[in-house]
Amino acid sequence: MSKEIATGAIKGSHYYAEQAEGLLEKAIAEKGADFAFEFPDTAYFLPQIYAMTGFEARTLGDMKTALEQHVKPLLSDVPAENMNLPYLGEALDAGMASLFAQEIVMAVRYINEQEPIKDDSIGLTYNGFISDTILRDLGVQLVDGSMPGYVVIIGAADSDEQAFEIARDLQQKNILTFLCGNVNGESMTKQLLRKDVQLGWDTRLVPLGPEVEHAIYAIHWAARAGITFGGMKGGDFQKILKYSKDKVFAFAMVLGPLNERIWTTGAGAINMGFPAVANTDIPVIHPTGVTIYEEVAKELDPAKLVEKCIEVRGLKITVSKPPIPVAFGPAFEGERIRKEDMHIEFGGQRTPAFEWLTVSDNVEDGKVTIVGKDAEARYQQGGQMPMGIIVEVEGRKMQSDFEPVLERKIHHFVNEAQGVWHMGQREQNWLRVSKNALKEGFTLSHFGDILTTQLKHKFANIVDKVQVTLYVDEAEVKQKLEETRKVFMERDVRLATMTDESVDTFYSCILCQSFAPDHVCVVSPERLGLCGAYNWLDAKAAYEIDPNGANQPVLKGETLDGVKGRWKGVDEYVYQSSHQALESFNAYTIMDNPMTSCGCFECIVAIVPEANGVMIVNRGYTGMTPIGMKFSTLAGTVGGGAQTPGFMGIGRFFLTSKKFLSADGGFKRVVWMTKNLKESFADQFKKRVEEEGDPDFMDKIADETITEDAEKLVEFLTEKGHPALSMDPMF
Ligand code: SF4
Ligand code: ZN
Repeated sequence: MSKEIATGAIKGSHYYAEQAEGLLEKAIAEKGADFAFEFPDTAYFLPQIYAMTGFEARTLGDMKTALEQHVKPLLSDVPAENMNLPYLGEALDAGMASLFAQEIVMAVRYINEQEPIKDDSIGLTYNGFISDTILRDLGVQLVDGSMPGYVVIIGAADSDEQAFEIARDLQQKNILTFLCGNVNGESMTKQLLRKDVQLGWDTRLVPLGPEVEHAIYAIHWAARAGITFGGMKGGDFQKILKYSKDKVFAFAMVLGPLNERIWTTGAGAINMGFPAVANTDIPVIHPTGVTIYEEVAKELDPAKLVEKCIEVRGLKITVSKPPIPVAFGPAFEGERIRKEDMHIEFGGQRTPAFEWLTVSDNVEDGKVTIVGKDAEARYQQGGQMPMGIIVEVEGRKMQSDFEPVLERKIHHFVNEAQGVWHMGQREQNWLRVSKNALKEGFTLSHFGDILTTQLKHKFANIVDKVQVTLYVDEAEVKQKLEETRKVFMERDVRLATMTDESVDTFYSCILCQSFAPDHVCVVSPERLGLCGAYNWLDAKAAYEIDPNGANQPVLKGETLDGVKGRWKGVDEYVYQSSHQALESFNAYTIMDNPMTSCGCFECIVAIVPEANGVMIVNRGYTGMTPIGMKFSTLAGTVGGGAQTPGFMGIGRFFLTSKKFLSADGGFKRVVWMTKNLKESFADQFKKRVEEEGDPDFMDKIADETITEDAEKLVEFLTEKGHPALSMDPMF
């Protein structure tokens, strides 16, 4: 490492340590050392400090202790005796100290209500701290490679156009982008806003804050991944650093001149294994320490800059762009089209519409047919239009069972086109095309082009040919809709009658092993994967698409326990694919060898001993629960690929299954669930409780508006005559 950089990094760390100390002293004088603080929605205290040292900073006084014990020793020439970090070289130590100090600075700023920063001059509130919920939300995308990594951009591009191009390039490659820092007040955030680019999680361009130290939010977000998904504990710094380097594909892009604050933050990030690429000439950096230390490239062409980052970080990017005149990629999926920006819309209860995918044996590959009078002219005119989309696919390995799996992809593929928006499915679909997309030349037939190319690309093993027909005349759409309704009905009946008993093969999913090495999901017709992304048909289709992939058939074999849901074949598979960590799985109970949980579960089921029942809390709910733990804390005790009797991560849909805790008494065990869950599945729950012969049962389940306290919960249940109180003891 060059002397200049090392000195800069060390100087920068003293700057942050002093800042942290000053802010802390003032805050303690005002509020007292016992003043409690936690960042919004996290179970990891000050995450960087907690992940590296195991120290749980809960109060201002604790932060002061952290500063004395963990920041200052890293900055002294002779390491203090209790220094529990590896020797990474002085500059790297200084970098880590900076991250700790920046985290304290941000915490005090949160206490003072100075974070997240709101800048009225650009009409933006920055994201600030990134919650545990978002980390879990993105879990599956991070493991299945659909999001290959993330980048922290510090500074500003040379021009608005360059900023726009870099962002668009990253979006098309589906790389999550965080923005922070500034160059004399100018920033990439401002540049993109001037170019009318939508910022936020939906478009994967997330502004964290205007200063370089806001990068800490992205860095300590990564520090949590090893704990959230990898089953590590706070203080396992070596494992967590290695995990962060090997599994979290993050890197930094520094635009504009460098200074001590950037050097020291960069040195901190390098501890985490995040290389940096800059667009300015800087002194050579040599490899050192336990992490990859990349040389910084002088690359002024923005396209090359992104390329260079990808190469340096070793990201695997697989993109396929259909032949359409607008940008394309998952990052555009969340983009909204407001009424003022809309050129035309289809469906959405405004015009008749539907979409249907079917197997056919007379498909002309790539053919797009538009049926309707003056179709293109009416489209050009704008407003509203009927739309029936029929997609026909042909392939030797294609089965009618896969139709719904592929049909659901219509939503994603169409949405990925910039300036095109899609919602719903079947006859509830709703599409919009923006004025901008029209201007760039997006026509009706491009809908078809998207579907023909993407279905073949993503399902190469089962789909050989695709053709699309678009109907745009009202009478014809209505008539075709009648026909497809029959098909949808048949499909629903078939799915509803599909039970765990009706098949001899389940499917595994071990995608999450890249994060939680011993975790296995066994997906059956009546129990989907805990992330909610894979049901039995999805897993079956995934296996056909990639026979060597993460989804494998699991022959049930002999039934060892029909009530608890235990099969010989499943046990054998689980034992072997969990690297002998797990002996046995029961699908229908939470008490005895329940399925494992990685980190991306949609909900957690947990027993409430006082009530002899269970409660269910969904990811994203940030309030308290009757067992005295928030989702984020609870998630910490359940995840990492372990079996935890009494606690279990599940996919939301499993709640509506007849097999949900069927060995423990079933749905009647539920004593508390969040209002959000009650509302999202209102219809399905109504049906379930009727089947159970207790049509008023939903009123007997408490939620956060009734109570978040165990004692009051029991009172409520007693008053309502909840069946769990008189059922067999759960343990
Ligand atoms: Fe991970 Fe299970 Fe979802 Fe597969 S089904 S992605 S293993 S949570
Ligand atoms: Zn997972």
